[in-house]
Amino acid sequence: MTTTADAIVIGGGLHGLSAALQLARRQVKVVLLERSRVGRHSSGASAAGVRTLNRARAELKLAIVAMDMWHHMEELVGDNCGFRPYGQLQLAENDEELQILKARVDGLNRDGFTNEEIVSADEVRSLVPALAPVYIAAALARNDGAADPHQTLMAFRRAAVEAGVTILEGVGVRSLHREGHVWRASDGSETFEAPLLVNAAGAWAGQIAAWAGDDIPIATKASMMIVTERVAPFIRPTVISMKRKLSFKQSNQGTLLIGGGQQGLPDLEAERSEVDARLLAKSAAAAISLFPAVKDLRIVRSWAGLEAKTRDDIAIAGLSPSAPSLMHLFGFSGHGFQLVPALGVATAELLLDGRSTVDLSGLQPGRLMAGAKPDKRKVDEHQGVSE
Ligand SMILES: Cc1cc2nc3c(=O)[nH]c(=O)nc-3n(C[C@H](O)[C@H](O)[C@H](O)COP(=O)(O)OP(=O)(O)OC[C@H]3O[C@@H](n4cnc5c(N)ncnc54)[C@H](O)[C@@H]3O)c2cc1C
Repeated sequence: MTTTADAIVIGGGLHGLSAALQLARRQVKVVLLERSRVGRHSSGASAAGVRTLNRARAELKLAIVAMDMWHHMEELVGDNCGFRPYGQLQLAENDEELQILKARVDGLNRDGFTNEEIVSADEVRSLVPALAPVYIAAALARNDGAADPHQTLMAFRRAAVEAGVTILEGVGVRSLHREGHVWRASDGSETFEAPLLVNAAGAWAGQIAAWAGDDIPIATKASMMIVTERVAPFIRPTVISMKRKLSFKQSNQGTLLIGGGQQGLPDLEAERSEVDARLLAKSAAAAISLFPAVKDLRIVRSWAGLEAKTRDDIAIAGLSPSAPSLMHLFGFSGHGFQLVPALGVATAELLLDGRSTVDLSGLQPGRLMAGAKPDKRKVDEHQGVSE
């Protein structure tokens, strides 16, 4: 059996949904193919931090456009996605760390970015009274915040369906060809044909790219999270640390979310990942060192996600350099949640207009492909924060 459409989106995570939504709003007939169920992987495992703080420069303009969209999320998808604009703080615990933060904020200001500022220890204390007094100052992004990943998934899914997207779950693409003016994707029993294609297959997107003729090397991340029992309002901003692998926030439901980039054990073939209890204990210890009051709380859940990581920790978002009408959208390296609304719009623009309003020049897939040299500057200019 063959189904025809104007666009095929492979992957039912938030990026696939957002791209499908924006294409459909421009009168494109979209079929979205998801091997498992919508939100099964990274998007459903996300800590949902909405962060411009310490963004790599290559992603910053995009992240600022996305941040504005998060502040108007109801207008985009009819739901605020649980977004709470309580800010994000990166702590400096000694003078050396403070100098790094100051240099970054000075550099941002020189280039016209105002999303971060340095705040004193007194201001940190008034923003986060529960913090142990280990800090001497912090960088603060006041407009940043956090959302609810499941509410966000439901909102984007609902909006996409209302815009006319056909979402097929349990349909895993197993082969892909370009024939004449159409892409042909098949799950082994059914074929889907469309002139436009979006590769939003998360941790498995490298395989889809290879089938289309693009050899884009990626690694896999299996970032872990801890969730505690519910507690009374405890903290509003998200707190990240320079020297400890820690990201700490409170959800709308009152649970505390502890992440920060400790890695579990990925198994791409089995499509699952496992928690590494030894490293998870380090996350818990880091949380206790900054927030002693959490010491006696019960952990109610922990998990590890699966997503693609690039060698420069910068996302891949751009048209294929070798195949026509193919948008690659993956490699978010632990911080793609925030970019979701803006990249949906950019995907529709690139596929339909050939150019995007927002500058994606630093996110092009070609930079990682054979013959391209790694750009060390891009790796060094941010400190690889991971939620
Ligand atoms: C623990 C954790 C915490 C995080 N915290 C944050 C955070 O605080 N802030 C932030 O900005 N980002 C965060 N991230 C990253 C963010 O969640 C991801 O960057 C984002 O969700 C990626 O979305 P996606 O749609 O690209 O991928 P996914 O949600 O992984 O979706 C890809 C989908 O493609 C499907 N698929 C794969 N192959 C095929 C195929 N052949 N056919 C059909 N379907 C296929 C998969 O089943 C999957 O559902 C976190 C990630 C994790 C794991």
